[in-house]
Amino acid sequence: MTAPSPRPTQCPHCGYDNDVETFESITSHDRQLRERLVSGALWTWRCAKCAKDTVSLYPVLYHDMRAFDPTLGHALENSVKKIRYQMEKMGRKAGWEAMRREARASRDADSLIGLLYPERHLQERLYTMLPILARHGLDLVGTIYEAIELGCPDHRVMVV
Ligand SMILES: [Zn+2]
Repeated sequence: MTAPSPRPTQCPHCGYDNDVETFESITSHDRQLRERLVSGALWTWRCAKCAKDTVSLYPVLYHDMRAFDPTLGHALENSVKKIRYQMEKMGRKAGWEAMRREARASRDADSLIGLLYPERHLQERLYTMLPILARHGLDLVGTIYEAIELGCPDHRVMVV
């Protein structure tokens, strides 16, 4: 498997316990890992605490698929390309969906601000009381007057 598996390793410089990324096996179609294997960087890790590099050797099984069967190497490369294409496609779709949701949230926020502050003014400065009186009757003024608590300076929601 080319999937990394973390291995607890203590830093020889500071003693900090790190989770070092290790590989049991690497296939030739994974270019990045192959280059790290060839250069020796595969066995070099950096401590998360003191940031010093350490070389820890461990056995790795290397599968050279091209040497085994060239057609398998091509088939693997094609599969990798298809998977990368699908992953990029899913990434683009997720990005578009995130942008769409962000735009909808922005529209909803603008709508709420428009309700609370129509045309960037306070509601009571822009809206007239007449439609509310027409809907609820002239007794509404008395009902509001009775509900007013002079000791409460906050805005209140009234159900009429
Ligand atoms: Zn360290």
